[in-house]
Amino acid sequence: MNTETRRVSDKRERPLRDLRISVTDRCNFRCTYCMPAELFGPDYPFLQKTELLSFEELERLAKLFVGRFGVEKIRLTGGEPLMRKDMPELIKKLARIPGLNDIAMTTNGSLLPVYAEKLKQAGLHRVTVSLDSLEDERFKAINGRGVSVNKVLEGIEAAKAAGLGVKINMVVQKGVNEKDILPMARYFKEKGHILRFIEFMDVGNTNQWNKKDVITKAEIIDLINQHMPAEPIEANYKGEVASRFRYLDGSGEIGVISSVSDAFCASCNRARLSARGELFTCLFASSGFDVRKLVRGGLTDDELTESIASVWRNRTDQYSIDRALSKTDGKKKVEMSYIGG
Ligand code: SAM
Ligand code: SF4
Ligand code: SF4
Repeated sequence: MNTETRRVSDKRERPLRDLRISVTDRCNFRCTYCMPAELFGPDYPFLQKTELLSFEELERLAKLFVGRFGVEKIRLTGGEPLMRKDMPELIKKLARIPGLNDIAMTTNGSLLPVYAEKLKQAGLHRVTVSLDSLEDERFKAINGRGVSVNKVLEGIEAAKAAGLGVKINMVVQKGVNEKDILPMARYFKEKGHILRFIEFMDVGNTNQWNKKDVITKAEIIDLINQHMPAEPIEANYKGEVASRFRYLDGSGEIGVISSVSDAFCASCNRARLSARGELFTCLFASSGFDVRKLVRGGLTDDELTESIASVWRNRTDQYSIDRALSKTDGKKKVEMSYIGG
């Protein structure tokens, strides 16, 4: 059996470096921009357990991505990843994979007070916690479940206390939470956590996206600069999604993920596995490649590797560049809660 690591590149010469795994399509929040409560109601047909990739199947796939393609970083996401039962068990399995240097999780933070310690012990390195406002009434309305800011702040504290790395994500929407940009920046500067602003994106088909509702990277940085001067700094590595800025007073950094105003498709090296086991090569793809069928169909590791490699080799995605050129209208897309951001 050929177990040598080989790099695989797509049609635009982008290597496969990074894997994001959505472990569930369920969530205890109903963020208006992601899973609006009107559409994700009590009768919503969420995936059943047998439809999800099992932990053993995920472990096998992760081993292939790391061992065969040289992926060094895996991010677990959802839906809300901590809604999946026994996540520390999955992390233990991943943490045993040689060559996997970085295991991260994106979470809404609400369940971190329960799980942070167990996740750290299992081998998780860091969490990115999503929080869109420090103002309670606004945050309750955005998360659609009336969850208070304190609940998430407790989660952040629990992660820090457990020794996990912590970053914060804030989706900025015009007319919704732009007032929170400065308070969030001040608060997390003080706390010593990197805050990353995310431009509101047209993911999925349900969030009523309009370009007019986007506050751009330039607008965010201008605003911050007026109060807390910051300068751009180099990316940590090629393909990093956030543009980085450092406060001139030396008190830390912020980032901006500018999918809309400044597309970064040219260096996009991320593959995504949906909760149902489809491989997506773009966050805005219409469909994925059914890896679960292959895994359950008895393919050998070599055959699986070859199938995945051929999907990546044929990849041409550059949705955000096409969006900027107005070449994307009317295309049906996968929902964010299904593929995980
Ligand atoms: N439930 C977890 C959470 O909220 O962190 C993980 C999944 S969530 C889909 C991953 C990230 O995508 C979150 O930071 C969320 O704020 C972001 N997100 C969801 N919908 C978005 C949109 N329309 N535009 C920009 N970011 C979005
Ligand atoms: Fe849930 Fe995260 Fe989507 Fe909010 S952004 S609804 S927390 S999956
Ligand atoms: Fe990557 Fe698709 Fe986002 Fe471009 S639009 S950066 S190809 S996920």
